[in-house]
Amino acid sequence: MSYQNTLDFSREMDNQDSLKRFRDKFHFPSFHENGVVYFTGNSLGLQPKSTGEFIQKELDAWAKYGVEGHFLAEKPWFEYHEFLTEKASKVVGAKPEEVVVMHSLTTNLHLLMVSFFKPEGKRRKIICEAKAFPSDAYALESQIKFHGLNLEEDLIEIAPRDGEHLINEDDILSAIAEAGDALALVMIGGVNYYTGQLFDMKKITEAGHAVGAVVGFDLAHAAGNINLELHDWGVDFAAWCGYKYLNSSPGGVSGIFVHERHANRPELPRFAGWWGYDKETRFLMEPGFKPMYGAEGWQLSNAPVLGMAAHLASLDIFEEAGMERIGEKRDALTAFLEFVIEDISKKNADRCEFEIITPRDKSKRGAQLSILVHGQGRELFDELTRQGVIADWREPNVIRIAPAPLYNSFEDCFRFGEYLQNAIQ
Ligand SMILES: *Cc1c(COP(=O)(O)O)cnc(C)c1O
Repeated sequence: MSYQNTLDFSREMDNQDSLKRFRDKFHFPSFHENGVVYFTGNSLGLQPKSTGEFIQKELDAWAKYGVEGHFLAEKPWFEYHEFLTEKASKVVGAKPEEVVVMHSLTTNLHLLMVSFFKPEGKRRKIICEAKAFPSDAYALESQIKFHGLNLEEDLIEIAPRDGEHLINEDDILSAIAEAGDALALVMIGGVNYYTGQLFDMKKITEAGHAVGAVVGFDLAHAAGNINLELHDWGVDFAAWCGYKYLNSSPGGVSGIFVHERHANRPELPRFAGWWGYDKETRFLMEPGFKPMYGAEGWQLSNAPVLGMAAHLASLDIFEEAGMERIGEKRDALTAFLEFVIEDISKKNADRCEFEIITPRDKSKRGAQLSILVHGQGRELFDELTRQGVIADWREPNVIRIAPAPLYNSFEDCFRFGEYLQNAIQ
């Protein structure tokens, strides 16, 4: 399709957008006189207007029932997490028993690695991406030390080749093959937070399994963004946070996936807690841990209901929109934004230089574009911020922007271009 960098064209695209009415389901930040172009749904998604009601409902139930709310609330807290499971499983392409919402992301990565990173003899290496999100890097590092292993030898980081920004996927696959029976775990971000590069999770999973390793993904930047098929791809485990594309409140609850093939393996090591214990006999409080079937067997604590309520409000919206439509709009919106940026870049070629380091191929990215700004990047970013663009700056010189298909419009992309042009001037 041929795009035009004009207001009329962007509005025409909005008119044809099947998700157009979803924009109105969200609160847009109101602190800026121009209104904002909100392109940080990859960092903290906007608040659905329904979130307040969902949380208020549980506050009311708490006021009315006290502890009895565990059973008497309209959605009894005792099983509150269950109301989220099926909706969350649709977002990531899993069977309901493979998914549970619990705790927070980094906590969950650790809990899953306790079960799925089991170094034994020669098989003890982890493959991950270089420059992973810092929390993941610390989690991996501490897991390796926890097992008394050696970081230098046992953590294999796959970096972009010299002079390149993206990781060549063949380098991941060949590192996996090369590590062979010394490889215990592959743990990669499904979408790299910095470049927006999307990895072929199916291929990586197959490669890992071919050498007998376990394969897990951090889907912080993929859940609610990418059309995932975790079950069919055969991924062993995954975790994601609820507050980026999933719009479920700052620091909100996380989701985990554990493939069906691990659903009934009580022998797996785990750090257990009472909420992972067989639900029917949990309150007999007997010694000896009997895990629940499937992902629920990894829960430690009873559900933080207020955070869960915020997540439920958002998952309802995802269910209504459907990941298929979200994916279609994501590709169109991102391609249009890319076109606008390139147009502005061409028009100002004598003054500045932008380089979009995110893959051009839409099958290799989601909603995010990372722009490497040569020259006066920080000043440009600050000027964009002054005009009302909410974007993300990463040292030394990258601006990350993410048009979220549920609430961003084609007009937002056009406006971004206008602000960018102003900022250059
Ligand atoms: C956002 C993000 C996190 C954040 O972890 P929390 O435990 O939710 O604070 C971790 N890893 C990745 C890859 C992220 O993008």
